Amino acid sequence: MKPWEANIRRVAPYVPGEQPKGEKLIKLNTNENPYPPSPGVKQALAQMDCDWFRKYPDPAATVLIKALSKTYGVEEDRIFVGVGSDDVIAVAFMTFFNSRKPILFPDVSYSFYKVWADLFRIPYETPALDDNFCIRKEDYYRENGGIIFPNPNAPTGLLMPLSEVEDIIAHNQESVVILDEAYIDFGGESGIKLTEKYDNLLVVQTFSKSRSMAGMRIGCAYGHPDLIRALNDVKYSYNSYTMNIPSLVLGAKALEDDKYFKETLDKIIYTREQAKIRLGELGFSFPDSMANFIFASHKERRAEEIYKALRDNNIYVRYFKQPRLDNHLRISIGTDEEMEALYIFLKEFL
Ligand SMILES: *Cc1c(COP(=O)(O)O)cnc(C)c1O
Repeated sequence: MKPWEANIRRVAPYVPGEQPKGEKLIKLNTNENPYPPSPGVKQALAQMDCDWFRKYPDPAATVLIKALSKTYGVEEDRIFVGVGSDDVIAVAFMTFFNSRKPILFPDVSYSFYKVWADLFRIPYETPALDDNFCIRKEDYYRENGGIIFPNPNAPTGLLMPLSEVEDIIAHNQESVVILDEAYIDFGGESGIKLTEKYDNLLVVQTFSKSRSMAGMRIGCAYGHPDLIRALNDVKYSYNSYTMNIPSLVLGAKALEDDKYFKETLDKIIYTREQAKIRLGELGFSFPDSMANFIFASHKERRAEEIYKALRDNNIYVRYFKQPRLDNHLRISIGTDEEMEALYIFLKEFL
């Protein structure tokens, strides 16, 4: 071993879903939106001037924060933005989770939480979901250094009623609670309004799924101005210019077209409800998803076998080789045509 190797920070990184290249493939593995961003985004992109890029972007992300403020009716000093919600959540871990007590998150949830906790050396405990993959709120009634969970949860897709989310927050007013709402637009009720009542609640959302902009990397968070100020202090101590000019401008633009946003959401929700029927007919069972994916297992065939067969036929879904998850497939909701191709293949294969 070289002497300096002893000083390397060792981490087991998060493994993102595959981004396979090729023309005729059906990609249902990373919960991307199958529809393009709003037409206004395309127009704004065409009008972008390269000369803008000589200068640094606005470190305060003012255009985007103003647009979010208008869209969600939240004051500007209660909003924080970053390079995808991954960046927002990572900054929040650094900012808020500095207790010696363990932070809490479900054993089955977004696998990045554990990676950040390890990276930032934050102790953590992972209360197990119940046998139906539901979060047990009572597991979060104990002392902790902070709490984070997604609602709807990933990869189960299960939505917790807002009253239960509030119950967890109400029991934990001495630590920061982060509510990760990456999938809330697909049928859930947001906890943003609870940030008025609880000064320890941070609600995180993303443009990656419901707003079709995963490639632009835009995430945001809502909370009490004291939380937002603390996030900004850490951000400005680390990298002041997190968001680039196209992301700021196009993100703001995406918020303008609410009609298009609602229409694409309705299409995805309709396709998801159809998928529940079709996958059920094919012998799959799954928790009742309120997200843009379905977490399914088959009554006869192993998930890994189905995953490989799909992959050999250019249909990509997500498979997690992990305890409790390794007989499930996470299938993102694509267009009706993509889903039809999936059902046809599955019918033949099964
Ligand atoms: C996709 C996802 C994120 C991160 O999304 P970004 O693309 O970084 O905004 C965060 N949390 C959950 C639960 C997700 O599924």
